[in-house]
Amino acid sequence: MSGKKILLGIIGVPVGLFILLIVITLIFGERQFVSEENVLHDSSSGEVPVSIIYYDVEGNTVQQLQNSIAGHDWGVVPAHGTGTARVVWDYDVSHRLREEAGSCRYVEVKLNGSIVEELPRWQAPAGADSALVARWNTFITNLETHEQEHVDLGLQAAKEIHDTLINFPPQPTCDELTAKGDARTDEIYDKYEQRNIEYDKRTNHGVTQGAAL
Ligand SMILES: [Zn+2]
Repeated sequence: MSGKKILLGIIGVPVGLFILLIVITLIFGERQFVSEENVLHDSSSGEVPVSIIYYDVEGNTVQQLQNSIAGHDWGVVPAHGTGTARVVWDYDVSHRLREEAGSCRYVEVKLNGSIVEELPRWQAPAGADSALVARWNTFITNLETHEQEHVDLGLQAAKEIHDTLINFPPQPTCDELTAKGDARTDEIYDKYEQRNIEYDKRTNHGVTQGAAL
C-alpha cells in the first residue's frame, strides 16, 4: 500500500543561547498490528507515550556549561547546529480498513511510537557556586516549561489525527478513503506544526520564558 513519510526539523538559534529541534515523523500506510507494547497508553485511542531523556553536561561556570551544551552531539537528526533541548514527535499512524456494501471505513486507527523530550542534565560538582546552581535550576525549570508546550502539541496532534480518522465518513472505495484520510492527516499535522512555529516565535524559542542559561 501507499506509504508516506514526513520528516520535518525546526531549528531556532537565538545567538547561541537556545535551539529547538522538532522532528515529526508520520508514516501512513497499511501495517500489521502488533500487540500493545505499553499498556499505560492505548494507542488505539490516539494516546502516545512521552519519554524524557537526558544528556549530561559539565562545568563550573556559565560559560563552561554553555560550551558543554553546545558540544552535545544530537546524532542523526538534522544537524543544523547544536542546541539545548529537543522534542521529537516520533510516531506514525496505522489503520485497519473494512470494505463492505460498496463503502470503506476505518475500523481501527493506531498511533504507534512516542514523543521524546531530550534535556540537558548537570550534576553540580562538590563546592559548586551556589549562584550557578540556582541559575541552572531556574534555567532547567524554564526550559522544561517551554518544551512541555511542544510535547502537548504533539499529544494533541496525535489525538486529533486519531479521532478524525476513526470518525471519517465512509468512502466508496478504500483508495478514496485513504487518500482523503491522508490529506486530512496532513492538514492536522500542518495545523499543529504552525502552532509550534507560532509558539517559538512568540517566546523566542523559550528565551522570553527564561529558558536560556
Ligand atoms: Zn520551542
